[in-house]
Amino acid sequence: MTKANYTPPPNFIRNIIEEDLKTNKYGGRVHTRFPPEPNGYLHIGHAKSICLNFGLAAEYGGLCNLRFDDTNPVKEETEYVESIKEDIRWLGFEWGDRLFYASDYFEQLYEYAVQLIKEGKAYVDSLSAEEIREYRGTLTKPGRESPYRNRSVEENLSLFERMRAGEFEDGTHVLRAKIDMASPNLNLRDPVMYRIIHATHHRTGNKWCIYPTYDFAHGQSDSIEGITHSICTLEFEDHRPLYDWFLDALKIHHPRQIEFARLNLTYTVLSKRKLLKLVQEGYVSGWDDPRMPTISGLRRRGYTPEAIRNFCERIGVSKSNSTVDIALLEHCIREDLNRRAPRVMGVLRPLRMVIVNFPENKVEEMVAINNPEDKSMGTRKVPFSRVLYIEREDFREDPPKKFFRLAPGREVRLRYAYIIKCVDVIKDKKTGEITELHCTYDPETRSGAAKSNRKVKGTLHWVSAAQAIKAEVRLYDRLFTIPNPEDIKDGEDLKRYLNPKSLEVLTSCYVEPSLAKAAPGNRYQFERLGYFCVDSVDSTKEKLVFNRIVPLRDTWAKIEKSQQEKKE
Ligand code: ATP
Ligand code: MG
Repeated sequence: MTKANYTPPPNFIRNIIEEDLKTNKYGGRVHTRFPPEPNGYLHIGHAKSICLNFGLAAEYGGLCNLRFDDTNPVKEETEYVESIKEDIRWLGFEWGDRLFYASDYFEQLYEYAVQLIKEGKAYVDSLSAEEIREYRGTLTKPGRESPYRNRSVEENLSLFERMRAGEFEDGTHVLRAKIDMASPNLNLRDPVMYRIIHATHHRTGNKWCIYPTYDFAHGQSDSIEGITHSICTLEFEDHRPLYDWFLDALKIHHPRQIEFARLNLTYTVLSKRKLLKLVQEGYVSGWDDPRMPTISGLRRRGYTPEAIRNFCERIGVSKSNSTVDIALLEHCIREDLNRRAPRVMGVLRPLRMVIVNFPENKVEEMVAINNPEDKSMGTRKVPFSRVLYIEREDFREDPPKKFFRLAPGREVRLRYAYIIKCVDVIKDKKTGEITELHCTYDPETRSGAAKSNRKVKGTLHWVSAAQAIKAEVRLYDRLFTIPNPEDIKDGEDLKRYLNPKSLEVLTSCYVEPSLAKAAPGNRYQFERLGYFCVDSVDSTKEKLVFNRIVPLRDTWAKIEKSQQEKKE
């Protein structure tokens, strides 16, 4: 990304970095990292952190590492590691030769732990997990010291070594930092540093059966890598005193931790635990379901990396939690695709239309503009013939006020073609359903012709039946019905808040023949309908499948709604 002539707006993180550069705090270096736990797929919240960390490094001529904080063998998988790498690259960022894993530091972290034991700053505790919780106290009640707190250094060293050697069962002992059981900050009440977990790790295999906690691994990993600015979300503000304590006790390089507010989005959950539940319980087709707020879901839906980066820039960073309206994300993709996506015509719910005065077997080629925002994208030819499809909702037998589309006896323009008039409505005798419209066209009114400027109120999109390609179109809506699904309690049933209409599959759509060469991932604006992307998983040459990325703003829906409201 070139940022020539672009000065990003100041924010509190940039101010801190600039201050540190001025005082030469880290020898003028800026070195950040993005530290995911490989226990799920990345989502739009992670994109905020990725743009921030990689973006700041690029801006100040520094470096950004990708480091997997893979300290929990039970929840982590290689599949997640691979997806995370793919997503970061797709977003447009590169870590070069700086791909690291906290598990690379297991030996070093073990030595740090031994160092703390030797200095009397860590001890092996043999209380059960439940007892430890109970002894910890609460915000209003100080904790109690464990009866094992005053074990001798020798005993601690020996027990810790035997923990590593695999002599004990899971949960029988832990290593704890010896800090202060009465601290008002619960994180300082002798936090656990190591626990026994007999499980296979996705990288270290069965080499270890004791694993460092996130709190013991994270800060030290940043230190080992020489990170200057450890940027993390606000929940870690309370952990900072603990990270400081470890770094000071170990007397090693001390990065500066800066906390910012995580991204929350309306109608969206960004908690990995909840997203995993949606996948595991089959409410979505997978992590890359186009309704998911994951990077892979957004990519499959048709979002561009540019739109996501632009969104991350616009939301900015702050110190206080807030919720961003999902409409802003939708606005960013519309804005990007408006400039870039070729326009085409497609009909989602087809209604057959016969132009009764148009010769049978005649095909005319209409000239259509590929993108009015970018003339360099040129024009294409669209066939026009006697039998067409229009959108069912563009015709009303009994049109309400302000409905400017087609109705019996009424004229509209067919985009890039002629003005037509509805002369007859054909219905199924049994069901009464409209099966076909008969129209006449005015040959004088071809778009671009001398007499083409006769005024009609509506312009409709259409496709020519003989040449059209049949396609499947998947319409997506919000996954949740409530604006704050993140507030759903853990025990509660997610299903109650899921939108039953979040996916609508239309199998009899028709698109113009130029789309025969549409490839997976290609994005288009279907005129008057929205932006659509060829599905990268299910679309084939034989059967095109499109995902609706976002609709265009629908002014009619707004009018109809306000009319309804007036009636009520
Ligand atoms: P958990 O720790 O519960 O598994 P997490 O969302 O914190 O979930 P991580 O893999 O630890 O997942 O996140 C990697 C980085 O992304 C962290 O530095 C974290 O602060 C940041 N991050 C995660 N969620 C958001 C969010 N919603 N907004 C901004 N940054 C986020
Ligand atoms: Mg985390």
